[in-house]
Amino acid sequence: MAYTYDDQNIFAKILRGEIPCTKVFESEHTLAFNDISEQAPHHVLVIPKGPYVCYDHFASSASDAEIIDYTRAIGSICKQLGIEPGQAGDGYRLIANSGADAVQEVMHLHVHILAGRPLGRMLASG
Ligand code: AMP
Repeated sequence: MAYTYDDQNIFAKILRGEIPCTKVFESEHTLAFNDISEQAPHHVLVIPKGPYVCYDHFASSASDAEIIDYTRAIGSICKQLGIEPGQAGDGYRLIANSGADAVQEVMHLHVHILAGRPLGRMLASG
């Protein structure tokens, strides 16, 4: 089944400037802003500007330019936050919830960057 993008989702409204966000980074194809309900001292959401529902949709349908821009943006934000392990930062976790089992709440691709405290094991048990 092909993806259908609903442009009334909250991140689409942020992209159109209809609701505010605390911007962290912006490039040609990518926007990043603080999560409104932060789970760690650094909790940034990184979204493509294009209409992609989730990660595999983006990976199969976005242009090379969009994918490169998005990937480089995540690297730039990690650098901006000073969390890169290779630069003496304390590290981070990337999460891209996709679909029902992952409890994706907003149907516009977003990667969570979480950092600034020990984040525990990858998944909570149960
Ligand atoms: P997910 O479960 O991966 O779909 O996560 C959606 C995330 O979007 C949650 O962490 C929410 O706190 C966050 N969120 C929802 N509305 C906003 C908003 N207006 N600005 C920033 N983050 C938001």
